[in-house]
Amino acid sequence: MTQNIPQEILDSLTKVKMPDKVKSKEVDHVIEISGMDIPIFFTEALVLGSGAAGLRAAVELKRANIDVLVASTGLFSGTSACSGSDKQTLHTAGTSNKGDDFCQLAKDIGGGGCMDQDTAYIEAVGSIKAFAGLQYLGLPLPEDRFGSVLRYQTDHDDVGRATSCGPRTSRLMVKVLCEEAVRLNIPFLKRCEGIQILTKEISGKISACGMLAINKDLDHNKYNLCVILFDSLVLATGGPGELYRDSVYPKFCFGSLGMAIESGIEVCNITESQFGIGTRRTEFPWNLSGTYVQVLPYIYSLDKDGDEHNFLADYFRTTKELVSNVFRKGYQWPFHATRMLDFQSSLVDLAIFVESQKGHTVLMDFNRNPKPIEGLDEFSLNNLDEDVRDYLKNNGALQDLPIDRLTKMNPLAIELYKMHGHDLNEKPLPFNVSNQHMNGGISVDLWNRSSLNNCYAVGEICGTHGVTRPGGSALNAGQVGGMRVAQHIKSKSISKPEEADLKSFEDQIDNSLKLISANLDNKSALKWKDISKEIQDRMSDKAGFICQLDEIEPALIKAKKLSDDIDQKGIVISKDNKVVDYFRWKQTALTSEAILTALNYFVKNGGGSRGARAICSNKGSKIPLSKNGPIKEFSFIEEQEKDKDKKIVLKFKNNEFEITEVPIRSMESPDIIYFEKNWSSFLNNDIFKDNFKHS
Ligand SMILES: Cc1cc2nc3c(=O)[nH]c(=O)nc-3n(C[C@H](O)[C@H](O)[C@H](O)COP(=O)(O)OP(=O)(O)OC[C@H]3O[C@@H](n4cnc5c(N)ncnc54)[C@H](O)[C@@H]3O)c2cc1C
Repeated sequence: MTQNIPQEILDSLTKVKMPDKVKSKEVDHVIEISGMDIPIFFTEALVLGSGAAGLRAAVELKRANIDVLVASTGLFSGTSACSGSDKQTLHTAGTSNKGDDFCQLAKDIGGGGCMDQDTAYIEAVGSIKAFAGLQYLGLPLPEDRFGSVLRYQTDHDDVGRATSCGPRTSRLMVKVLCEEAVRLNIPFLKRCEGIQILTKEISGKISACGMLAINKDLDHNKYNLCVILFDSLVLATGGPGELYRDSVYPKFCFGSLGMAIESGIEVCNITESQFGIGTRRTEFPWNLSGTYVQVLPYIYSLDKDGDEHNFLADYFRTTKELVSNVFRKGYQWPFHATRMLDFQSSLVDLAIFVESQKGHTVLMDFNRNPKPIEGLDEFSLNNLDEDVRDYLKNNGALQDLPIDRLTKMNPLAIELYKMHGHDLNEKPLPFNVSNQHMNGGISVDLWNRSSLNNCYAVGEICGTHGVTRPGGSALNAGQVGGMRVAQHIKSKSISKPEEADLKSFEDQIDNSLKLISANLDNKSALKWKDISKEIQDRMSDKAGFICQLDEIEPALIKAKKLSDDIDQKGIVISKDNKVVDYFRWKQTALTSEAILTALNYFVKNGGGSRGARAICSNKGSKIPLSKNGPIKEFSFIEEQEKDKDKKIVLKFKNNEFEITEVPIRSMESPDIIYFEKNWSSFLNNDIFKDNFKHS
């Protein structure tokens, strides 16, 4: 079957051309420390990271007349620029014919628990402004002829609030935001990675004031080190994408969560991540949600001898049940423990996990319909659950083969893999269940302020999502966060740092220089490749979506030992221009230790299977069933209702983690907020004050 959309349109949505000219920031000053020239940049606000969240923050800051600088490891690296799915989703208040209700939307966003109620409401009301801004900048969101945006249903979304520009919505967001940054003449440091936050005391508060960074475009010193001094810092460095072996993050997504933890910034909900089906990182990491599974490809595995197994047939009771649940993975994409029960869609994830453990490769074939379960009902498009049949029928997708149904429903989904050297018309696609997103992260208040004075966080590094999140709400949260930080920074009195301020940081910079030279070519230090393997294997095997209760504490002990070994022995820096490896892996080891610390605390206090992680144990009261009976080895502990109202917060202090439980923030009812009564609190900037509440 051929698709009816011209190739140039498909190309514009898949081979997205990015702006090629951003303004570079010139060095403001050079100081000498320990005989080394260090270039210095001054700015009012530093945005670290140039994904969709960071660029939104930068554009909003510049529009608010703040002098802003963007520094990023790679201008178009990170998940926004490089990740996606069949229809990468943006989730906002519904703008279709039915409209929406912000209070209900807030409840739905925070429905999985552990999400601050004010943040959920802010993301709900802010979504309209965030969305309209993107439309204004030219994001090609599909509309009907009346201007109503086309919507569909996504994960954790009963209403259908999702929309998409195709497989690369977030890359298109980066494109339009970067074009705007160019128009606004925002300066960039395009190959500049932050490695350490520099702090000093301001009015009795330890405050973020500078960033030690490695800038590959500068050669004032042999390590490419530079320092950026600012009044306000916005961390927008994305998720910790190097933690898991089985991961669908693009490569080199280190982020800066570890750097933040090292600086004593509080983090919350870091036990919570999303896992779901996607193509493997060793090939082309991409989510296999939405139409990829809704067209009902044949899912099977190959063992080491090349023998094929229709393994899902061992789990479901009828062919109709099997294929209908494959379909539902389209909008129930992230794994959820409770959906392993009663023959629901996460039984598919569990079955894939079991196959992978056997060393089998799991594949999706778009040129074959699902094979029936032997001796039971045949596969037929007339033998599907009613919702599944209706969906395919309503979308005109009742063609004979999955590839034809995919061509009809979403030709861009095929185009995307073709672009990356895999023609779905020709060969099956290997895939796995992988880590995709961290729902927790830096703990922030309702203006995205972290616990470190003058330091904000937006996008995936920010721990605003609760245990679950509707698909597409990550991108929305980053946009709303970007707008909020700009508003808050604008409301403060800002002072741009200058040469005189440098003195306070010389010792911190000098200490880092000593650390670097101690690890340079240090033959007795650990190798980053060994560290990376150890961390990623441990996180995937012991803290993945299927997690054995008894294995968490031993994994934590090993993670702690690794951090101690790194402290004592160091990590070898093989060459002057490889200094970044030291910071990346030291901080990733700390992040992994933090997650295991939080997870261990959670389960020790009776925490159960929530979000995308099943805590399996023979003490578990919930047992997934297959058609052959209970799958006892994956019995799991149930989620506890009481855990939904609090967040686990960690702070790294004196080389140890302090753990506290913090109740989720509530908010006053929006029903008491009237225009005349509250107008002055807006005009006087009272709304930005700590502890301000509407009355
Ligand atoms: C396969 C996949 C599919 C997804 N699909 C969806 C979806 O459909 N809907 C949805 O809402 N979300 C989705 N997500 C999640 C979403 O894409 C991310 O949460 C979001 O793009 C993160 O944006 P960000 O701006 O916070 O970070 P990123 O886009 O990751 O950007 C981070 C930036 O920071 C830079 N950086 C990193 N570390 C440093 C440092 N130390 N110093 C300087 N710069 C640094 C990077 O180079 C990059 O420019 C998906 C994620 C994946 C992996």
